[in-house]
Amino acid sequence: MKRTHALIKYLTLLVFAICLSLSKTAVTADAANKPVVIVIDPGHGGNGEKNLGAVYNGFIEKDLTLKVAKAMKNELEKYENVTVYMTHTDDRFLSLEDRAEFAKSVNADFVYSIHFNASVEHGFYGSEVWCSAFDKYYKAGYEFGLIETQELASLGLYQKGVKTKLGSSGKDYYGIIRHCRERGIPCDIIEHCYLDQGYDVAYLRDTTTDKYAAFGVCDATAVAKYFNLKSKDGTKDFTSYEYTKVKAPSKAVRQDTSVPETCKIQVLAYDSASRNALVELTANDSQSPVIYFSYSYDGGQTFCPL
Ligand SMILES: [Zn+2]
Repeated sequence: MKRTHALIKYLTLLVFAICLSLSKTAVTADAANKPVVIVIDPGHGGNGEKNLGAVYNGFIEKDLTLKVAKAMKNELEKYENVTVYMTHTDDRFLSLEDRAEFAKSVNADFVYSIHFNASVEHGFYGSEVWCSAFDKYYKAGYEFGLIETQELASLGLYQKGVKTKLGSSGKDYYGIIRHCRERGIPCDIIEHCYLDQGYDVAYLRDTTTDKYAAFGVCDATAVAKYFNLKSKDGTKDFTSYEYTKVKAPSKAVRQDTSVPETCKIQVLAYDSASRNALVELTANDSQSPVIYFSYSYDGGQTFCPL
């Protein structure tokens, strides 16, 4: 028994994402009839290693973002009352500020920056959406992000949620979000999935369906739902689509970095002959959903996959 306790003594829980009080309210109809202006920003692009984005397993992020952005534009243009632009339609370098400036020049209502992910640990998987931490930009970004994560979940991808990140200056960490907010435009970064992790790579490599086209349709559908659009052929009508609303926060919405209230592991049964143990892990955090966990059998030297 002693050994078993030693085996399971160490448990770490990694907690990401933020918690919010949500409420379902009815969508109020948009009074103005002016077309919604959408800017799609394919992340990265141009020559040189630093412009490739994440490069793993034969995937080059800048190529994938362009594919998804084009598929998103193609799908979104099937809807009425929407004008769609891309910050760039070929492989070229554009600064983050230039992308935001372009969005301002066309009076964009929303900017969607298309990305794929990678982590230092190479262990994370799933989709995540980043939005501004501030005021009405958080509200717009978070509300859209929730719809987007529902769309991406329908593809079978794990969802890490809609998140904010602040830089050391206390402003939004991600440049594209910060530059867009400075110009009065909400902006979300959509990280579709990871290029450096087994589950997500297997998903991308499965060629029975065109995954990039599917991402584009998801992204466009989320936009159509958020702006209550209707398709030109009448097959899709989201004019009375209702979605979860949040309040515009009065101060920055920060990521929860505190440890979970409950984080324990307990032996339910142990068979000394086979050295099999049945253990129960319990975790709870009132501020955040617990989305990944990992544990160690060797005193924290190695951990199981998330
Ligand atoms: Zn990227």
